[in-house]
Amino acid sequence: MSELPSAVRIREVGPRDGFQNEPEVIPTPDKARLIAMLVATGLRRIEVTSFVRPDVIAQLADAEQLLGALERPDGVAYSVLIPNQRGLERALAQRDRFDEVSVFLSASETHNQRNVNRSIAESLTGLEGVIARARAEGLRCEGVISTSFGCPYEGRVAPERVFEIAERLAGAGCEEVAFGDTTGMANPRQVAEFFAAARERLASIELTAHFHNTRGQGLANVLAALEQGVDSFESAFGELGGCPVPPGSTGNIATEDLISMLHEMGIETGVDLPILIEASRAVQELLARPLGAHVLRAGPVDWNARPAGRR
Ligand code: ZN
Repeated sequence: MSELPSAVRIREVGPRDGFQNEPEVIPTPDKARLIAMLVATGLRRIEVTSFVRPDVIAQLADAEQLLGALERPDGVAYSVLIPNQRGLERALAQRDRFDEVSVFLSASETHNQRNVNRSIAESLTGLEGVIARARAEGLRCEGVISTSFGCPYEGRVAPERVFEIAERLAGAGCEEVAFGDTTGMANPRQVAEFFAAARERLASIELTAHFHNTRGQGLANVLAALEQGVDSFESAFGELGGCPVPPGSTGNIATEDLISMLHEMGIETGVDLPILIEASRAVQELLARPLGAHVLRAGPVDWNARPAGRR
């Protein structure tokens, strides 16, 4: 058995990646309240919103108002997702309200075309300008590569292609690159091989795994990544999120399921699981439908439990 990391960093992406997929617009004060609850859990990295065009994603049209409504607790890094130069300029008008930017593109041409209407080459050129400008403003940059483990339109995506994109992003100034399994196609063996190669190839940057639980393999993939020394993950409370492809897909791995597994394995996260479950209950109540996270239903493992009327 390989040596596992003793602690991991988790970026909560529910307020952006999760809320973005909710059809009903969530009022800004509710978003701010839920983010404050996430902060109270001990989460230290939270992706709070995106500066996409308001007419493209109505759910995130309140990016400015939301940033203005958030407290700025010590030690908590808020990140915002930036699609392009115009989005960055909007974000920079709120420069003191966040700490990091995330830029994104897909590793497959078809997915990138459908998602941002550009070729990968065009995306990279545009994002290099965004990253340079963000770095000049003192912002930390994360690059997110969607469909890193497979594409619903193109099938297999060569890891070599993904690493080349990651190298471009790192060369432009990203200190961290996240690899997204956007539609939940990855399996643990593939993840192990991917990160074994990525750690050699991309030794100087923080490698983050962003798994979806579309086919119930999210945490198995986390374990495979951990065994390759990956110690940075992205997840969404409640298992929020999803993707239009395939229709009805479930979302990101659930933060509470991830935290529960890590804590049971003796790996530190700095997150208080019971408080996180309260936050997930709150969002479940707000959305008025049951969310997918297992630990939200089952609660944390209780090793001192005495069976009540059951054997
Ligand atoms: Zn996601």
